[in-house]
Amino acid sequence: MRDFTLGTYLKWLGIIALGIIAINMMACASTPVVAVDFPSPFQLGQVVCDTKDKPVILIANGKPPSEIYFVLIHEQKHVQQIRKSGSCKKQSRRYRLDPDFRLEQEAEAFCADIVARVARQGRDKVDLKRRAAIALTMYSVGKTAEEIEAKLPC
Ligand SMILES: [Zn+2]
Repeated sequence: MRDFTLGTYLKWLGIIALGIIAINMMACASTPVVAVDFPSPFQLGQVVCDTKDKPVILIANGKPPSEIYFVLIHEQKHVQQIRKSGSCKKQSRRYRLDPDFRLEQEAEAFCADIVARVARQGRDKVDLKRRAAIALTMYSVGKTAEEIEAKLPC
């Protein structure tokens, strides 16, 4: 029987740790982030699909890093939604054509932003939800800000 010294134990611990890191790196395939000049100065971010049907995050050039942080939180939620659906292109087609789906997806992304702003900046969640609901009316068809606010998943 081999005797287990501290050195052997640490060696195996290192090998196991490297294995876990490798598995995690494969599972969490990275999403590229590209800074672009959007046609509208009000647009801060967007997720597009590359030729291999993988998401790419676009962020507006020249915005302060403090604002880009929250744009990334929002767009990363869309990347999670795309990963869950399995296809970037199918997901974006449904996003364009189905207003209820679009609103649901945006509500989740706005909530990710709200939760981050409350945690990082100590902002008022109720106020942020009200503002988000007003902004979300532009993603919906015929829903009022009050109806949207009542259904926000945060
Ligand atoms: Zn969005």
